[in-house]
Amino acid sequence: MMKYVEEYRGAREAHRYAQALRSLVTRPWTLMEVCGGQTHAIVRFGIDQLLPPGLTLLHGPGCPVCVTPVALVDKALAIASRPGVLFCSFGDMLRVPGSEKDLLSAKAAGADVRIVYSPMDALALAERMPERQVVFFAVGFETTAPASAMAVHEARRRGLRNFSLLSAHVLVPPAMEAILASPGRRVDGFLAAGHVCTIMGTETYQPLVRAYRVPIVATGFEPVDLLQGIHMCVAQLEEGRADVENQYARAVRTAGNAPAQAMLHEVFEVVPRAWRGIGPIPASGLGLRDRYADWDAERKFRVAEVGGREDSECQSGQVLRGLLKPPECPAFGTRCTPETPLGATMVSSEGACAAYYRYRRSIGPCASTSP
Ligand code: SF4
Repeated sequence: MMKYVEEYRGAREAHRYAQALRSLVTRPWTLMEVCGGQTHAIVRFGIDQLLPPGLTLLHGPGCPVCVTPVALVDKALAIASRPGVLFCSFGDMLRVPGSEKDLLSAKAAGADVRIVYSPMDALALAERMPERQVVFFAVGFETTAPASAMAVHEARRRGLRNFSLLSAHVLVPPAMEAILASPGRRVDGFLAAGHVCTIMGTETYQPLVRAYRVPIVATGFEPVDLLQGIHMCVAQLEEGRADVENQYARAVRTAGNAPAQAMLHEVFEVVPRAWRGIGPIPASGLGLRDRYADWDAERKFRVAEVGGREDSECQSGQVLRGLLKPPECPAFGTRCTPETPLGATMVSSEGACAAYYRYRRSIGPCASTSP
């Protein structure tokens, strides 16, 4: 039985699954890995290059930094520029372009913008500096949202009214449904993000499987995890089945993490959210409940809807929907690099464009994935 990370990186085991896939596949299939972390592992370890011809991986919208809408980045900029505000964010968000500038430029212009590693770090700053309004830009899927919820819950419990959350949290299943429901859908099966499943469990995908007859396999992040998840998904397709299965059983349970779900439900409610490059997706975001309105930065600072203009050259919406691979974007590696990013998918450490820039520049453009 495999228990440790090294065992999930073993070349012999990886090649065994690649060989098994070659024997299994009888016709073309297209799978989507939803998570940006999985995209990075696939590109970094060349998993896609081990697959038999006709078995295609599409990269999905699973990078929360990449899908944070420009309008929300503009709101973050407006709040960060207010006098007395100390604006906290994960590092990746600082270079994500808003309509006119990014948080790093706001910092250079004098705004107090700081990188933190968790929402509790921001809460600690609020406790230490009662004269400042500390705002945390909360980005992430179901994986990181419980920690944001915990920080808000703690702020209320400790009576810290100088702390608030600008919530950009998004939910994965509605994005998967938007992809499945889109005209010309190309996805035959999904690798679901293992870390999201540790919180929400695998049963959260049952409605999608039933409605769209598509296999979904909760999958981990190491090369052998990914190849095993791909094999499980293709086996279902070849057998004409569509079930939820769990490759990542060492971390994921059917019902997920009940205390984390309870904390999410206590603080957040499901709201509509626009996804950068994709557009509005109903019931796909998390906003603070009314009982936590005093800790909601949008309500506290009453920033009007501003800007929201995306760079017209950037094709990250197509990348996020699996319609384009990064090297197919004309700006890739020329006008758009991690030093001069035109879009969030080149900025974020989980972005697909950043993954290809880091690991695949020397290999050249990949085959077209356009329909
Ligand atoms: S390479 Fe740059 S411009 Fe092209 S889609 Fe990616 S982020 Fe956008």
